Amino acid sequence: MFLTPLCQLSFLGNGVPGVFAKSPDNHPMKSLRLKPGKEKSLLRRHPWVFDGAIASGGSGVSGCAEAGETVRIDSSGGQFLAWAAFSLQSKIRARVWSFNEAQRIDATFIGAACARAILARSFFNIQSDGLRLIHGESDGLPGLVVDRYGDTLVAQFSSCGSERFKAVIVDALLKQTGLTRLYERSDASVRSLEGLPEATGWLAGSGNTEVILTEHDWKLSLDIASGHKTGFYLDQRDSRHKFSQYTRRMGFKRVLNCYSYTGGFTVAALAGGAAHVTSIDSSGPAIDRAIANVALNGFDANRTTMRDADVNAALRQYVKDGATFDAIVLDPPKFAPTTYHAERAARAYKDINRLALTLLEPGGALFTYSCSGGISADLFHKIVAGAGLDAGVDAYITERMGGAPDHPMTVTFPEGEYLKGLVLVKKLV
Ligand code: SAH
Repeated sequence: MFLTPLCQLSFLGNGVPGVFAKSPDNHPMKSLRLKPGKEKSLLRRHPWVFDGAIASGGSGVSGCAEAGETVRIDSSGGQFLAWAAFSLQSKIRARVWSFNEAQRIDATFIGAACARAILARSFFNIQSDGLRLIHGESDGLPGLVVDRYGDTLVAQFSSCGSERFKAVIVDALLKQTGLTRLYERSDASVRSLEGLPEATGWLAGSGNTEVILTEHDWKLSLDIASGHKTGFYLDQRDSRHKFSQYTRRMGFKRVLNCYSYTGGFTVAALAGGAAHVTSIDSSGPAIDRAIANVALNGFDANRTTMRDADVNAALRQYVKDGATFDAIVLDPPKFAPTTYHAERAARAYKDINRLALTLLEPGGALFTYSCSGGISADLFHKIVAGAGLDAGVDAYITERMGGAPDHPMTVTFPEGEYLKGLVLVKKLV
């Protein structure tokens, strides 16, 4: 990966070397000038400035911005485009805070952005006391994720800009929610791309890191310190509900939950009346938590089989054994983080979907997902269609699913659409 060395970037002050531009209230502000023609995406309000878009070298170097420092982004002609947080290492060299030249990026601005995001959650129908309060770029706060689990907040700072404003953000979140417990889970691998070390632990309050959520009609326990992401997959909330409804309405008896994590879909199926649910995950701690979650909801463990195993191998074995299921969930981890990985990932998705469609009873339902940013909804549809053809199976596509609404997509940030799903009902023969 080639990155322009920091001190060769054009930090221009009014186009004059050695002089910083002045912000509207007369504060010194470094500016970054783009190459000719590279202003288009910012003019369309997309919030990222890539390394390759920035003019480099030359006599215009007037200083170096620090990690997360707010810089002014100018077009090649010197026209103001945005205020953005500078990153020292990432290919995404700046992430936009505001497109308004008169805006000052300070504690008041950050606090107001947090308040708007939290208030916007009242637009959405969220049947749980676990929800995402801030979803990064989609909420105007690049590189910041904040989840609420009951009385506990969990925050992930994954950009230099959000890291720089950490204390301000923590203060704003506690004030605006009235909560006293906030745990940091800044251990996502993307932080290393920004040159930031991992950071985890309590930023406010202390105590037990285990939390019990009430989602729809069931309870789910999780550990905010050791669980995946901030502890749980809140984005699949609506899909778990739908799966429970399908199970009840269609009378599914034998269910297979692949990539089951802590058993969210397992509990949903049991609540929907499934006679037996087999759950497969390759993480031992996740399986242990799934067992605990089944007990937490008062379901008999005899209605479940918990398998610490590789899904692909397990599916192949089921096909060999001639096994069948009434309903199957396929919710794998991210096979393609970017489009660069799309081709290999497409083969992997096709393979598991082909196996699952083979194992499905006629009239049975497959809930299948991709959370890969590198696989579009359209491509995912084509992959699943290809899997059906290979399996010699036709199916009705009865639902197109996405992430729960507290993980919003926006008009200007298509990358916000990372999770997509299809519900297929296998045709009768
Ligand atoms: N459906 C879950 C979330 C699934 S996350 C929910 O609603 O909460 C994806 C899961 O896949 C993780 O728990 C991870 O441990 C598991 N996993 C990753 N690779 C796997 C593999 N090859 N076989 C089985 N499980 C795998």
